[in-house]
Amino acid sequence: MKLFTVGPVQMHPGTLKISGKQLPYFRTDDFSKITLDSERLLKKFAKADDKCRVVFLTSSGTGAMEATVINCLDSRDKVLIINGGSFGSRFCQICKIHKIPYDSIDLSFGEKLTESTLKQYDGLGYTALLVNIDETSTGQFYDPVMLSDFCKKNNMLFIVDAISSFLADDLRFTKMEMDAMIISSQKALSLSPGLSMVILSKRMIDERISRIDSGSLYFDFKDHLKNGERGQTPFTPAVGILLELNGMLHEIDKIGIDESIKMTKHRADYFRSIIKDLPINIPNYPLSNAVTPIIIENGNAYDIHLKLMNDHDIVVTPNGGELKNKVLRISHLGNLNEEDYRDLVEKMKPLLK
Ligand SMILES: *Cc1c(COP(=O)(O)O)cnc(C)c1O
Repeated sequence: MKLFTVGPVQMHPGTLKISGKQLPYFRTDDFSKITLDSERLLKKFAKADDKCRVVFLTSSGTGAMEATVINCLDSRDKVLIINGGSFGSRFCQICKIHKIPYDSIDLSFGEKLTESTLKQYDGLGYTALLVNIDETSTGQFYDPVMLSDFCKKNNMLFIVDAISSFLADDLRFTKMEMDAMIISSQKALSLSPGLSMVILSKRMIDERISRIDSGSLYFDFKDHLKNGERGQTPFTPAVGILLELNGMLHEIDKIGIDESIKMTKHRADYFRSIIKDLPINIPNYPLSNAVTPIIIENGNAYDIHLKLMNDHDIVVTPNGGELKNKVLRISHLGNLNEEDYRDLVEKMKPLLK
């Protein structure tokens, strides 16, 4: 089976080796050291300064999105959400459920987020921006510098869901003055699903988290940060995925973070170059290196997904909702190479007639 999905992704042999081992007990100095080491490397790769902290949550990415909202925002906030697809809409749902006032910039499929759109929200008293920097459902990569400037100008917290963008696109936590970055194990890190991490700025910890009542026992960041000082978590963490994580972070460290992002970009560029002559369209908004959405001109996208899976053991990412029959997404995350993309295109060609 070959996965061109956005998560889980094709895993690396080193990770599979770690995941096959007996798990250790975790309330030990040895395990604390591993968690602290992972915190250090995550901050290094996100280009976050020394004062930033990381919380490790046992949940999928959505849990970390919700946890970030309830620990960093409250009913006195006025939040702006970039809603350009299903993940943006999830942030809206989370704020609605937790009664956090928000407005959303709703983008239709194919619509690019522009500076002039953003400008209309200047000076309206917003306190925080929530954005999925790669809106994975459409592959649109929102310009982080543009959004950072907007937040700075309006004195807003900059909260970034980078779940599919971390390790795929050029993100600089401290330089872009981010306050929170949400990461998950099953995307570019290519690990088992179930572990999420949130990198937090000192400003976020001091001005928000320390004062806000999260209303949650399991997802209380104050408790996580306190335990995290000694490399521990309040409750049993995803022990196995934390070990996979540490192994992967050291692999990335050997290559270097910039080189690692370049490799993802290379896979994206390569795939986009070899489909030029196929009856396929790529949207013309800026794309993340993580994924290429392809609009199928001839044929039914979902049927193609099923055929590739059933006949060839190849899994591409189908879309949900209105785009189900029109759009497929091809991931560039995980253990994939040029040959894998050539093979995919060969198998796709006859289905596009
Ligand atoms: C994958 C993803 C998530 C998390 O989804 P889960 O299914 O909860 O892991 C959140 N945001 C973005 C942008 C994603 O790509």
